[in-house]
Amino acid sequence: MLRIAVIGAGTVGVGAARRAAELGAEVTVVDREGPASGSSGRSAAIYNVQTVDPLHVELRTRARELFFELERTRGLPLRKIGNLRVAWTDADLEVLRGVIDVQRGLGLTEEDSVILDRDGIQRLVPDLVTRDLAGGLFGPRDGVIDGVYLSHTLLHSAIDRGARYVKARVLDHRKRGSEHVLVTEQGEIVADVVVNAAGAWAGKVGAILGIEVPVMPQVHDIVKARLPEARPYTVPMVNLYMPGSDGEALYFRQLDPTTLLAGFHTYEVLEDQPIVDPDDFRQVVEPSYTEAVRAALAERFPVPGIEVVPGWTGLYPLSPDGEFIIGPETGDPTIVTATGLGGVGVTSGSMAGYLAAEWAVLGETTTMTGVERWLPSRFETKGAVA
Ligand SMILES: Cc1cc2nc3c(=O)[nH]c(=O)nc-3n(C[C@H](O)[C@H](O)[C@H](O)COP(=O)(O)OP(=O)(O)OC[C@H]3O[C@@H](n4cnc5c(N)ncnc54)[C@H](O)[C@@H]3O)c2cc1C
Repeated sequence: MLRIAVIGAGTVGVGAARRAAELGAEVTVVDREGPASGSSGRSAAIYNVQTVDPLHVELRTRARELFFELERTRGLPLRKIGNLRVAWTDADLEVLRGVIDVQRGLGLTEEDSVILDRDGIQRLVPDLVTRDLAGGLFGPRDGVIDGVYLSHTLLHSAIDRGARYVKARVLDHRKRGSEHVLVTEQGEIVADVVVNAAGAWAGKVGAILGIEVPVMPQVHDIVKARLPEARPYTVPMVNLYMPGSDGEALYFRQLDPTTLLAGFHTYEVLEDQPIVDPDDFRQVVEPSYTEAVRAALAERFPVPGIEVVPGWTGLYPLSPDGEFIIGPETGDPTIVTATGLGGVGVTSGSMAGYLAAEWAVLGETTTMTGVERWLPSRFETKGAVA
């Protein structure tokens, strides 16, 4: 039986573990602190299929099918508060209409996504300033999924399929013939294939494995906005970021009837922000960030008396081109890297893990095809170090 060791029990690692176990591999998942102890436990917890690139739309759609299955079979809590992506221009709106075509091709219906005009957005979010918007794309069945629940639920479903979980840090690695030997705090793990799903730590784990992984961790912050009283409607996820645009844009969504979570989102590496050491990064929300979100909310969601307070910080594991890194390493194809999920790893991580598992067990992907553009070989890395 093929032995797979998955390093990291965030959304990506547990997705890989479940899929590898389903494919009949002998799976060991190892995490130094526990499921979702990295970025997966610090997110804004939004899942949605409302993005622009067709490959990402498909990946998110497959991931969401898995969430709905886990909701039915394991009681995974989903709060379908809806997800709105706004279009700033008519050209943006045309792009979002194209997304609907892609989604319909994947079998989604108007229950999954609709184009809204400005009045439609105003009815959905009465407090939103819409006068400069061209419209938007709304997904009523999208919403909130807790990354901690998701990671534990997927890990348990992997364990039910025969996977083993070890709580230990991977400290060292050596090759013994074709086998990998991972040295951990709890002894050695021997495997035929290793999946590096260590998120923002994938560079450090890559170094242990002798592979250069160009992951660039950046700190992102979340704040809370306290409303003076409950709004008479559910505030959905409102995302003012149009993929392909420069920089960051505001997002916010209801946490509870009198609290919003809010922050700035992007798919890119931010040039004005440092790349940080994932073992030593800023844990406190900067006052200037809280103030910037307060000002942006006051402009876009001008409810009098909103008080904005710090939330928490976490890491986006980003790649240099802002795209995922999923697949076998050219230097040693028995090492599969799966990282670079940036700010969308709760939405997409489980399926990125599925693809990694398929590369590891089958040597090709079957859940989705056409995913070669995510291969690590697009970067000029040093590959395996003998
Ligand atoms: C503020 C913020 C808001 C976000 N909001 C959203 C959102 O709303 N929706 C969304 O889709 N995404 C969101 N994200 C992004 C999402 O959280 C990440 O993309 C995702 O969690 C990455 O998952 P991962 O499995 O790659 O990494 P992680 O969850 O970080 O998992 C990596 C694991 O590797 C383990 N590890 C590291 N080194 C070792 C070692 N040597 N040995 C053993 N184990 C090791 C760590 O303990 C960790 O558990 C947000 C992120 C942040 C920071």
